[in-house]
Order: sequence, then structure tokens, then C-alpha cells
Amino acid sequence: MAASTTSIRVSTHAGVETINITPAIREALKEASIRDGLLLVSVRHTTCGLILNEDDPGLRTDFARLAEHLLDPLRSSGPFEHDQIDNNARAHLTAGLMGASVQVPFVAGAPSLGSWQNILLIEMDGPRTRQVDLTLVGG
Ligand code: ZN
Repeated sequence: MAASTTSIRVSTHAGVETINITPAIREALKEASIRDGLLLVSVRHTTCGLILNEDDPGLRTDFARLAEHLLDPLRSSGPFEHDQIDNNARAHLTAGLMGASVQVPFVAGAPSLGSWQNILLIEMDGPRTRQVDLTLVGG
């Protein structure tokens, strides 16, 4: 069994935004020496998340809206403590709920996704440049 890691950079353009990173991942993995196994996609950030879902323009907006407003009810019980430091508690908390990684099988040099599945990065504290690590384990 072998393992390899590469990464891609993703530029985000808004405070809250959904970006389909599947095409960039497919491109980055074309030359990987590992052809079959498990792909771990992960971010080294605390204010963006990764999910597997459909890449529909309406859903991209809906996920951004979810990320922006999911925690609105919590604000009624008082301000977030972390907002006293850098005013982005909502981004940290929502990223914690979404998670910082997704795993998918990797077959014949490409991620094995369902017809409607894509790997989406949810930016919650942009605009920023995000590093997405691609770790392959297999043969
Ligand atoms: Zn912060």
C-alpha cells in the first residue's frame, strides 16, 4: 500500500460562498501514481468546510445561506464569546458542524462519486485563499 499527498489552492471571493472544487481535484489527481484506493480531501482551516452534495447554482446559494444563518437562533441567547477576539465565531462554529474533510473512493485515477455528487467547499469567512489537501492511500 502506498500513500501520497498533493494540494490545490482555492480562491474564494465572498464572505460566505459555495465552490465546487471537484474539477480542480480531478485535474490535480490525473498524474497521481496511485490509481485506486481512498481519497481524503481535507482543509487546514477553521472557518471553511467540505461537503459532498449536488452542484446546482440554487443549492450553492442555499448552502451559503445555511452557513450564514444556521446559528441565528443561538444569537438570541447572547453574543458569541469568540466575536470579542475577531468577530468570526459564526464561521468557526458552522465549520465545526460541517467538518474539515470528506473521504471518497478513488478508482482508475478519479474520485468515485455518485452522478449528482460533487465535493463542495463552503467558505464562511472569505474572501481568502484556501489550501485543500488531497491524500491518496492505495495502490
Ligand atoms: Zn476566529
